[in-house]
Amino acid sequence: MKIKTIVFNWKMNPKTFAEAEHIFLAVKKGASGLKHVKAIVAPPSIFLRELSRGYRGKSVSFAAQNIFWEGEGSHTGEISPVQVKDTGADYAIIGHAEQRARGVTDEEINRKVLAAIQFKLKPIVCISDTEHDSEGEYVNIVRHQIKTALKKVPPTRFRDVVVAYDPAWAIGAQEAPGVNSIHQMTLLVRKIILEAFGRDALKHIRVLYGGAVNAKNAEGILSIPDIDGVLVGRASLDAKELHALLLTANRV
Ligand code: PEP
Repeated sequence: MKIKTIVFNWKMNPKTFAEAEHIFLAVKKGASGLKHVKAIVAPPSIFLRELSRGYRGKSVSFAAQNIFWEGEGSHTGEISPVQVKDTGADYAIIGHAEQRARGVTDEEINRKVLAAIQFKLKPIVCISDTEHDSEGEYVNIVRHQIKTALKKVPPTRFRDVVVAYDPAWAIGAQEAPGVNSIHQMTLLVRKIILEAFGRDALKHIRVLYGGAVNAKNAEGILSIPDIDGVLVGRASLDAKELHALLLTANRV
């Protein structure tokens, strides 16, 4: 049975560390002992070290929600991949739609991906079109984003790379797109990875879907044969939802 990667992106939530501890407890309990799930929690960076240092288990890994492309220096307000690694995190989300909307470019995303690789973090690269237009322009956008983000990634590190197709139009939506549409998009992402980076890349890079995933629709989405997991926003802040989601991921 395939291991499912479940990324919980808390975004700029919750408001206090006490609440963060409470939600993390639910993740910890929910993921404990699950053999077919890799749970990754991405709390706000200010909570990362304390949550990860207080965790002794092996079922949950930690991610930053963003990193800068330099290891250190005069970059006010940025977070270094070296500092992220030092908190005990192993992953970094890079190029989330909300970062892209604030002007982060494909070239900058590539620099962040290469910095993550250099400083031994595993990049969770978000690929995000803003609309599914009828002319199919989104296909070119997705292709360009993938090809640019993964440029110069050493083939030996493909196994550390996660690509999350996380379209801006589905993030925060009431309903996720239909299973068929998600399946088509994951096939497209895989085809682009194969064409641009070859068979080894296709074999090793994990492909996730993100956008309005919850405990109810998780079973259908995670049953798609080419999906390696999901990236979850809102539902990752609700103890009951996230618990049910983890159990589903372990079962399908
Ligand atoms: C996200 O933040 O990338 C996301 C998928 O959010 P939500 O699950 O709330 O749509």
